[in-house]
Amino acid sequence: MFEGGNTVVHKDDETGNDSIRHDSVQAFDAVKATLKSDIGDTAFRSWVAPLEARAFAAGTLSIDVPTRFIRDWVRTHYGDRIAKLCAMHISGCTRVEYNVAAGAQKPAATPAAQPYEPVTTANENAAGDAVQLSSALDPRFTFDNFIVAASNELAFAAAKKLASGENVTFNPLFLQGGVGLGKTHLMQAIAHDVAARAPEKRVVYMSAEKFMYQFVRALRSRDTMAFKEYVRGVDILMIDDIQFICGKESTAQEFFHTFNALMDQGKQVVLSADKAPGDLEGLDDRLRSRLGMGLVAGIQNTSYELRMEILRAKCKLMKRELPADVLAFLAEKITSNVRELEGALNRLIAHTELVGRALTLAGAEELLQDLLRASCRRIIIEDIQRHVADHYNLRMTDILSPRRARPVARPRQVAMYLSKALTEHSLPEIGRKFGGRDHTTIIHGVRKIEELLLSDRQLAADVETLKRRIAG
Ligand code: ADP
Ligand code: MG
Repeated sequence: MFEGGNTVVHKDDETGNDSIRHDSVQAFDAVKATLKSDIGDTAFRSWVAPLEARAFAAGTLSIDVPTRFIRDWVRTHYGDRIAKLCAMHISGCTRVEYNVAAGAQKPAATPAAQPYEPVTTANENAAGDAVQLSSALDPRFTFDNFIVAASNELAFAAAKKLASGENVTFNPLFLQGGVGLGKTHLMQAIAHDVAARAPEKRVVYMSAEKFMYQFVRALRSRDTMAFKEYVRGVDILMIDDIQFICGKESTAQEFFHTFNALMDQGKQVVLSADKAPGDLEGLDDRLRSRLGMGLVAGIQNTSYELRMEILRAKCKLMKRELPADVLAFLAEKITSNVRELEGALNRLIAHTELVGRALTLAGAEELLQDLLRASCRRIIIEDIQRHVADHYNLRMTDILSPRRARPVARPRQVAMYLSKALTEHSLPEIGRKFGGRDHTTIIHGVRKIEELLLSDRQLAADVETLKRRIAG
C-alpha cells in the first residue's frame, strides 16, 4: 500500500504498461507531494496517502479511494485543490473522479493486524500496542464523591439508574452542562459502578476527540469494519464532549451513524456536551433529533450551598481542614465552575502545608488574586443591566426598550458604559444585548457617560457604587 513516501508506481499495477497511464500515475504522486506540504503530515496520512491514481482517459483522472467515508471527506475538503493540482501536473487533465475501490475493506485482503482489544473498565492496561479504546478513569470520579443538589439531581439520578443495570427507558442519556459542572465525573461514575457490579459488561468511556482519533486511525489501516464491530460489541458506549466532533462534517456523520446503529441494537449510549442536542452545529436534523430523543439531563450552574458542600466534602476526602470563613469566601467568589473551585482549594491547601501555618482570609485572598480577577472578567451584561435598573428604580424592560426619555436613557447609557468597561464584549455584541441597538449607539452612550463623569458628581458616585455592586 502506498505509504506517503515518494515511491512512484503502485505495486499492484499489473496491467500497467500503458505509458500515458503510467505518467499520470507518476504525476499524481507529485500532486500528493505538494498536498503533503500544504496540509501537513497528519492530515496527509489520514486522507491523502490512501488515494491511488488508477487510470487516465479522456481528460479524467480516476482515483481509487479505500472507503466512501474517505472519498466524501477528500471531496469536500481537498477536492478543489486536488483538481487544480492535477490540471497543473497532468497535461490534459480536466476532471478528477473518485472511486471506492472494491474489496479495499475486505478483512481477508487486509487482515486486521491488531485486533481491537476489548479495553474495558475492568481491563485498563491491555497488553502490547492493542488499540486503546477506553480512556483511563479517574478513581475519584465516583457516585459517592458526587454532591447532589437541585442543579444536578436529574443528571445524577439518571446516571445512577443507568449504572444500576435496571432497565432504563431512555437512550441515549445526554448530559448537558457547562464546563466543569460534573459531566465527566458522572460518566466515569457509571463506568466505575458497572465495573464493580457487573464486570462482564463491556463499558467504553472516551472523549470524543479520542474516539475520532481512533476512528481515523482505523480508516488509515483500512480497518473500519473491525472498529465498528468492536464498538458495536460494547454494552455501554460513553462519549464525552461530543461538541468537539460536531461540525467536522463527514466525521460527525460517520460517528453518529455508529451511534444510531448501536441504539438500534438496544445498546446503551451516554453522551455529553456543553450544548443541548438542538444547539449542536454541523449535524443533520435527523441525527440531532435522534440525540434528543432519549433523556437530556441538564446540569445547571452551582448554588452557593452546593459549592460549600463540595468544598467540605473535598476537604474531608483529602483529610485537610481550612477555616470556615476561608471556605465561605471561596464558595462566594469562585462561582464559575467546580473545577476552578477545586483548583483554588488545592492551591490553598498546598500553600498551608508548605508554610505550615494556619491560613487567614486575607492570606487566601492574596493567594487567589489571579483567579479572582479571572472570575471578575466573566461579569455578564445582564447582571450589569439588572444592577443599573435596580439602582435607578427601573425595570429591565426599560433598559432594553427603545424609549428615549432622559430618566430611562441616561441609566441605559450608564449600563452601556459599564458593559464596555467591565466586560470583554465588543461594541456590536453589547449592542445586541441592548435590544439590538447599533454599535454606534453604544459608542455614543459610552462617550456621553465618560464626558459627564468629569463634571457630574452624582453620576460619578452612582457609577462607583454600581461598579462595586456588580463586582460582588
Ligand atoms: P465537566 O466534565 O462537566 O467539564 P468534570 O466532571 O470534569 O466537569 O468536573 C470538574 C471537577 O469538578 C471534577 O474534579 C469533579 O469531580 C468536580 N465536580 C463537579 N461537580 C461535582 C459535584 N456535584 N460534586 C463533587 N465534585 C464535583
Ligand atoms: Mg468533561
